[in-house]
Amino acid sequence: MLSADRLEWVGGWGEVLGDAGYVYRPSTLEGIREIFGEARAGEVPVALRGAGCSYGDAALRAESVVMDLSRMDRILAWDRETGIIDLEPGVTLRRLWRFVLGDGWWPPVVTGTMETSVGGCLAMNVHGKNNWARGTFGEHCLEFDLVTADGALRTVRRNDDPETFNAVVGSFGMLGVITRARLQMKKITSGLVEAKAVAAPDLETLLRLTDEAKDQWEYVVGWIDAFPKGRKLGRGLLHFARHLEPGEDAEPAQTLRAEAQDLPEDVFMMPKSAMWRLIKPFTNRPGMKWINRLKYFSGATLGEGAVYRQTFAEFSFLLDYVPNWKRIYRPGGLIQHQSFVPVDKAEAVFRRQLEACHKARQPAFLGVLKRHRPDDCLMGHGLDGFSLALDFPVVAGRRERLWQLVRTMAEDVVDAGGRFYAAKDAAIPGELYRASFREDQVERLLALKAELDPCAVLRTALGDRLLGN
Ligand SMILES: Cc1cc2nc3c(=O)[nH]c(=O)nc-3n(C[C@H](O)[C@H](O)[C@H](O)COP(=O)(O)OP(=O)(O)OC[C@H]3O[C@@H](n4cnc5c(N)ncnc54)[C@H](O)[C@@H]3O)c2cc1C
Repeated sequence: MLSADRLEWVGGWGEVLGDAGYVYRPSTLEGIREIFGEARAGEVPVALRGAGCSYGDAALRAESVVMDLSRMDRILAWDRETGIIDLEPGVTLRRLWRFVLGDGWWPPVVTGTMETSVGGCLAMNVHGKNNWARGTFGEHCLEFDLVTADGALRTVRRNDDPETFNAVVGSFGMLGVITRARLQMKKITSGLVEAKAVAAPDLETLLRLTDEAKDQWEYVVGWIDAFPKGRKLGRGLLHFARHLEPGEDAEPAQTLRAEAQDLPEDVFMMPKSAMWRLIKPFTNRPGMKWINRLKYFSGATLGEGAVYRQTFAEFSFLLDYVPNWKRIYRPGGLIQHQSFVPVDKAEAVFRRQLEACHKARQPAFLGVLKRHRPDDCLMGHGLDGFSLALDFPVVAGRRERLWQLVRTMAEDVVDAGGRFYAAKDAAIPGELYRASFREDQVERLLALKAELDPCAVLRTALGDRLLGN
């Protein structure tokens, strides 16, 4: 089965980690069962993969079968009255929102890119810019079908079997393949949001305004300029948004059309597909310092307090504005460090993180702040607090120093009772990552794995790192 013509390079989204794997792309349940059967017979592990948007090692493993589920992308059932939809796991969020929007629905939780798949979003229990209010992606899932490595199919319903449900959601593909998901969409009456931009001159203000805004707005996201030091450390811009109430949109039938949401083809009179080439020459410390500074000052002057309307797609998927933007980080790629810290410790920890970056002479090129709440999932990383996601370029010769910086920041997070996000991580040593889990999280996952996948067929590089294999 493991013929060489199946061998492909399978990389993390950040283009830092990757390995060759035997890639199979099943399109049916039978196809999945066959792959499992042959993997079991050949004693080869299977790593599940959705759209491959996890930054690090979550959807790959060396010398393994990689089961890529992107071809299982059918919409199986849709009820426009209730907003309940049944999907195969390879359906992307792009396909999902475009499908439901015209009937006045929207996915209640979306990621910063629309290229992620439903299976990957459940397996990582992803969050959006409304996490403290709407929870995670998994909280809007009613049931799913799970195929375990022995080929058995079971339907797991939130109400009937919450324990298994909450263990599979967020278990990064360790227990079985989600082959169908039933999701509840959110009713909307317009394809627009009202947004507001506010500047914060320092970290304390940024966190305070985020917390205040969360009770008034549906969505809140902060952008941090990670370059300034001293009093300006952690300054940034906040973007708030809310859905329009019935009657506020004069042309809802128009704004609810998927085509009306399309991101413009041109940005600053340039085709958006070419934008990353324009930014690439500035993807170094001095260049990024100026880009961040320019962004902050334009937001703090021209944009300050501005209230405006935007399509959902523009507000939700800002990162998709610049297709292939990660190419600015080539040839080394990028890593992201996203840590979740309880409310009362967040300011101090994030301050130390930004200072540690300066000390290591590796300021993050992009920083994003979000507000969160705890979730019910067994391997959940949610807590009542904030997360700060920091993007770093990986540059030859400085890699070891960058990994050391991540380790320093991660130790502080663990001491503060914080958590990490496996979908974004590539660099935290397994032992340190495990120290962030609650007492019996790993033991309970391993106990369930022993039941559902006793031969440990399902493995990924991330799984090995986090579960200590
Ligand atoms: C630009 C960008 C922005 C992002 N923004 C956000 C954000 O705002 N919020 C957030 O939470 N995350 C965000 N992410 C991270 C992303 O949402 C997660 O990595 C998500 O899991 C990616 O989905 P995927 O389909 O690409 O899954 P993959 O990365 O391919 O896989 C993720 C995990 O799911 C498992 N898996 C995949 N399919 C299945 C299946 N059918 N059954 C069981 N397990 C499966 C894999 O084994 C793997 O462990 C972002 C990523 C990018 C690149």
